[in-house]
Amino acid sequence: MFKKKTKLAVIIPCYNEELVIKTTVETLLRVLDDLIEKGKISSDSYLYLVDDGSKDKTWSIIEELHSKTSRVKGTKFVRNYGNQKALIAGLLGVKEFGCDCALTIDADLQQDENSIEKFIDEFHNGAEIVSGIRNDRKTDTVFKKTTAFLFYKLMNLMGVKIPPNHSDFRLVSSRALDILERYSESELFLRGFFHETGLKTAYVHFDVKPRAAGSSKFNFVSLTSLALNGITSYSIVPLRLISAIGLITVFIMACVGVDAVCDKLFRHDAPSGWATLVMLIIFIGGFQIFCLGVIGEYLGQIFSEVKARPRYIKEKEIL
Ligand code: UDP
Ligand code: MG
Repeated sequence: MFKKKTKLAVIIPCYNEELVIKTTVETLLRVLDDLIEKGKISSDSYLYLVDDGSKDKTWSIIEELHSKTSRVKGTKFVRNYGNQKALIAGLLGVKEFGCDCALTIDADLQQDENSIEKFIDEFHNGAEIVSGIRNDRKTDTVFKKTTAFLFYKLMNLMGVKIPPNHSDFRLVSSRALDILERYSESELFLRGFFHETGLKTAYVHFDVKPRAAGSSKFNFVSLTSLALNGITSYSIVPLRLISAIGLITVFIMACVGVDAVCDKLFRHDAPSGWATLVMLIIFIGGFQIFCLGVIGEYLGQIFSEVKARPRYIKEKEIL
């Protein structure tokens, strides 16, 4: 059917997932078997789990699963580095081990594993990147729905045209992995990166299920930090915007200044305008601090990149 069968590597980031990981691995192995039977992937396709410094039994469960079948491979970080780093480690890990394409999926299987076949079909049709798009956000809280909506709107406004409801449920070709290896920035934002490569992209719509067990590993702080990293690593629009607003403010201030001088010289009622003065001081003061914060975000981004520290440290790898 196909010239050479596709070797698929499925990457699963895990952080404190002892409650779900065993079932997830068994389910995904069944999906691989089914695809092998259908002749869509090769029999040496495998799973690659990245334990992002879990404090529970996740790693020992992974080792146990590996001892039963070498189709379960994985690596463990010395500490928690966050989901993006775990995904990057997975992608680079399977690139080194070898594969024709790599798929990333969450350990809680909220993303529908039955749609993996569609990802493979799109890959066989020539797509180098196949991105999963959520059909809806029924399983998300109102807060997450709103912030996600605002984030994608903001990213689009700032010139980073990533499609809304995009997720890290994604299949990429080995060519995309070659490009990834050449990106040395440590705070790489994967959704922006894959969009930037310009490789042929296809989309697969999938249903989101509720989490099988355990709770979300993201909180307000980690989501905000992911969003800020996405913005500051892919857009300088905020910096330009504050320059523009700065110019407009200078113009307004000049008008107010001229009016104040006129008050003094011609209308002789200088003491009035106290309220205006206070308002302006508050406005300008607050605005300046906000601008400093925006600049600070970029400065922070430069600060962490310039040190060029390793993205993560692996404690173990089982292949
Ligand atoms: N995850 C990770 N490191 C972290 C946080 C999360 O590797 O610091 C993994 C987690 O185990 C899961 C995936 O990232 O496989 C998505 O996390 P989660 O399901 O908690 O996020 P949500 O679905 O709530 O957005
Ligand atoms: Mg989840």
